[in-house]
Amino acid sequence: MTPIYLDYAATTPVDPQVAEAMAACLTLDGNFANPASRSHRFGWMAEEAVESARGQLATALHCDSREIVWTSGATEANNLAIKGVSAGKLKGHIITSTIEHKAVLDVCAYLQQQGYRVTYLQPQASGVINVEQVEQAIEEDTFLVSLMYVNNELGSINPIPAIAQLCQAKNILLHVDAAQALGKVEINLERDAIDLLSISAHKFYGPKGMGALYVRRGVKVSAQIHGGGHERGMRSGTLPTHQIVGLGLAAQIATQQFTQEEARLSALKQMLIDGLMPIGGVCINGDNTVANITNISFADVDGESLLLSLHDLAVSSGSACNSATMAPSYVLKAIGLDDELAHASIRFSMGRFTTENDINQAVASVTTAVQRLRAMTA
Ligand SMILES: *Cc1c(COP(=O)(O)O)cnc(C)c1O
Repeated sequence: MTPIYLDYAATTPVDPQVAEAMAACLTLDGNFANPASRSHRFGWMAEEAVESARGQLATALHCDSREIVWTSGATEANNLAIKGVSAGKLKGHIITSTIEHKAVLDVCAYLQQQGYRVTYLQPQASGVINVEQVEQAIEEDTFLVSLMYVNNELGSINPIPAIAQLCQAKNILLHVDAAQALGKVEINLERDAIDLLSISAHKFYGPKGMGALYVRRGVKVSAQIHGGGHERGMRSGTLPTHQIVGLGLAAQIATQQFTQEEARLSALKQMLIDGLMPIGGVCINGDNTVANITNISFADVDGESLLLSLHDLAVSSGSACNSATMAPSYVLKAIGLDDELAHASIRFSMGRFTTENDINQAVASVTTAVQRLRAMTA
């Protein structure tokens, strides 16, 4: 039996419509050319497809197409944003949080080695960073705040609009890792004074290996990859037409379906929680969360045994990146869970193809597993 996929926060399947549009950009009878080829029709057509996708993403984010820089994903976008604005500052102070993705934490650690100072804010028990915490951490030479919109393990949503207002008033750049946000919260770059924002196509039914960095007009970002001067010099490399077309269409579909999907997934989330609560010793991690992510701890069970007995469910304990090491999730530890409870936590992340039946089956499966494991140790 194929397991039920409840790991949409790790990655999503490509939307069939998106896959079809991408396939049409690969072969000789399709839009295969180099978008930088200016001397023939093939090149012009590819360029047109790339620019059309740029427009789709800009519409989804409420920004100008000229503020979009294509990258290979959110990891690269985060690197470009943080290193790219730091390069112009010679030293100084950066504010981030302890529960950022490694693609932000490791960049900050690298910059610390280069002489920059970094403050890592501790989240509230809800998994949220308050605007007051950011304000209190500001120092005289703070030039950048980098915070995620939605946490990938908990689903908790940071008050980015308020943090953007603060940063704007203090004349500090704000970078937002929005990899888990597109299609899950309303991102509005016209309303909010965000300077840099990272996204990743494979988190919203687009292809892996494709992302973008929004760079507000006037913000100076130094290139991290040098070459042919593509993307206004900020990111060189031949543009992958099929990947870009896939991202653009996926972004359009995700934002168009946002309201409807949020309502549907909220109902499924409630079903999941209502179904699991009767087990007892159940605790929901994080608060103010997106509809698609629910992180739950089960007291008095061994985490590894629990995950092993849930072979009919594709779920995550912590995030995919740290389940390889079997170290307790640093995100769960940061919001106050001890090692044992962190290990016995499961992230259920739902998506466009999740059904009520999937949730019923997940509830049955978890209930049986937890009860069996508890009976064994009782
Ligand atoms: C997935 C993810 C990333 C990394 O994105 P890639 O495109 O896979 O490099 C970064 N930050 C967050 C919050 C994520 O969820």
